[in-house]
Amino acid sequence: MIKEFENYEVWFVTGAQLLYGGDAVVAVDGHSKEMVAGLNESGRLPIKVVYKGTANSSKEVAEVFAAANNDKKCVGVITWMHTFSPAKMWIHGLQILNKPLLHLHTQYNAEIPWNDIDMDFMNLNQSAHGDREFGHIVSRMRIRRKLVVGYWKDAATQDHIAVWERVCAAWADSQDMLIIRFGDQMNNVAVTDGDKVAAEQTLGYHVDYMPFSDVMPFFDKVADADVDALVAEYFKLYEHDAALEDKSTEEYKKIWNSAKAELTLRAVLTAKGAKGFTTNFDDLGDYNVDVTGRGFDQIPGLASQRLMAEGYGFGAEGDWKSAALYRSVWVMSQGLPNGCSFLEDYTLNFNGEQSSILQAHMLEICPLIAAQRPRLEVHFLGIGIRKTPTARLVFTSKVGTGVTATVVDLGNRFRLIVNDVKCIEPKPLPKLPVASALWIPQPNFEVGAGCWIYAGGTHHSCFSYDLTDEYWQDYAEIAGIEALFITEKTTVDDFRKELRFNEVYYMLNKALM
Ligand code: MN
Repeated sequence: MIKEFENYEVWFVTGAQLLYGGDAVVAVDGHSKEMVAGLNESGRLPIKVVYKGTANSSKEVAEVFAAANNDKKCVGVITWMHTFSPAKMWIHGLQILNKPLLHLHTQYNAEIPWNDIDMDFMNLNQSAHGDREFGHIVSRMRIRRKLVVGYWKDAATQDHIAVWERVCAAWADSQDMLIIRFGDQMNNVAVTDGDKVAAEQTLGYHVDYMPFSDVMPFFDKVADADVDALVAEYFKLYEHDAALEDKSTEEYKKIWNSAKAELTLRAVLTAKGAKGFTTNFDDLGDYNVDVTGRGFDQIPGLASQRLMAEGYGFGAEGDWKSAALYRSVWVMSQGLPNGCSFLEDYTLNFNGEQSSILQAHMLEICPLIAAQRPRLEVHFLGIGIRKTPTARLVFTSKVGTGVTATVVDLGNRFRLIVNDVKCIEPKPLPKLPVASALWIPQPNFEVGAGCWIYAGGTHHSCFSYDLTDEYWQDYAEIAGIEALFITEKTTVDDFRKELRFNEVYYMLNKALM
């Protein structure tokens, strides 16, 4: 069991009714138990499914959904109608359910038993119309849900449930998420800012500011021996020039100070119970650090890289929306092989159909996406309040496909924008010693970048090799936010129509609800 998921479960509730007698309900119960056991034993679901029995009346539905709401382990509810379950009995329960809902349209038996099928069989195996009756009330009540259609033993069906489970875990995680901002937004930047009150109402997470004067007590408590040990770990983990280990050099001192910054930030995040943070290169506290030795003498880029790999959300320049989203990406991706990172659109490379965007940042790219063992280097960095040699991990990303996502605040709502991207092999960058990826936004640079810009997307985004559009469809559905997908099939004309239609939809939607 994956550590981030082991304390979570999703509940399975089977719809039935007492019209066909107690024997039918006993059979429904037995089949449901077998199905839930089968799902758990499939090895395809990252979160355990717990069978919560049949619901045969309005009272029973309301009771089990109230229990789901109040159970901290329960991150979502799966419903399935084995028999016909008259849907008025789901109204009161659905009115109060505040956990993500997945409606599974399946059937206990795969094929019709042609020679044996009779009216008793028909009365018991009624998913074909029971699930439509349930679907009707969910649609009529405008309840957001994921619908999975398929045989419960099929890998494809189970994989759709698995995606939803991962998103449910990330959603539960973000309802208890604190993001700490070390410094404010980079001055004047619009797209990384937004309404933190609306974000807490809509997306769950809470954002706080922490001045460097409050960070300093944590800095002062870091023991030199712990810093020495962390530096030794760096040298063990990462490629590096042997000369960096010479303790008399400025480079060694910069690496040592980076390790101290990492230990300071980790201590703050642990003490506050925070799941993510932002930094700002123009706000690093004590400006007299070179004289006093007290404070961050460089951007804590190496620390940000390593903390991201541990699962802390990160956004540069005060970008708290990206910090929160990265944390959710990391949670969804647990146990998946290829990694995720905060990234920034850095420089364009016009090259016909291979036109691409270099993704990088000053320093802060997560080593989980590295194609090779990262290399620890120290180079002069001339941006921000500290113009000084700065430690960082340098690597290029794996080649392959993935998705990148961002959330922007449009003033009246949040908009999720998702773009499928293809990471390609970069050329060497001998004079740009930072971590990077090079990708072609799908369907190509012109359409991908064009639609992203029409949608108002950021220059920062949260990228993953392992997630797909389906994860983001589920996320947007659970959050109830607008979602726009730029895929292989997207055209600029249709996308612009969608933007215009959505303006009206989201204005009217609130009025209709
Ligand atoms: Mn940036």
